[in-house]
Amino acid sequence: MPRVFIATIPTPNWGEEKGLSEEEIEAVVAHELSHWKLKHSAKSVVIVGVVICFRSYLFDYLNQTLGLDGVSIIVDVLQTAIILGYLGKFLSRTKEFQADAYATKLGYGKPLKSALIKLGTNSLVFPKSDALFSAWNHSHPTIVERLAAIDLLMRKSD
Ligand SMILES: [Zn+2]
Repeated sequence: MPRVFIATIPTPNWGEEKGLSEEEIEAVVAHELSHWKLKHSAKSVVIVGVVICFRSYLFDYLNQTLGLDGVSIIVDVLQTAIILGYLGKFLSRTKEFQADAYATKLGYGKPLKSALIKLGTNSLVFPKSDALFSAWNHSHPTIVERLAAIDLLMRKSD
């Protein structure tokens, strides 16, 4: 019989202000629209297509050269999934920084930072992570990384 454990989960302490302010919501929308402005979805489709074509070509070449059959298809599928997974996450994190930068250039740096803090607190996301772990597991940069990048941009524009 499985055991049941009950644990208390810390809840965010936002004081009087709960949720995002109007300016923070605008900053989040600016970030999301920046993805559209920077054509991130279209670029992702092209990159994934190129990677799949390259992997298929390489696999066919190795198959013919080394005479691999059957079992190697499984290895190829796994390798492709790993490469696309890692590459996809790397590209996704890069695009998040770019969208943050674009929203910051539009003047939403400060409210975007406070929105990220609130959203991160609300979802109980750990604010910092090991770089290698993050590279393999996170589609978004950590909150600390994003805040630092936004701070840097805001300082440059002063
Ligand atoms: Zn984003």
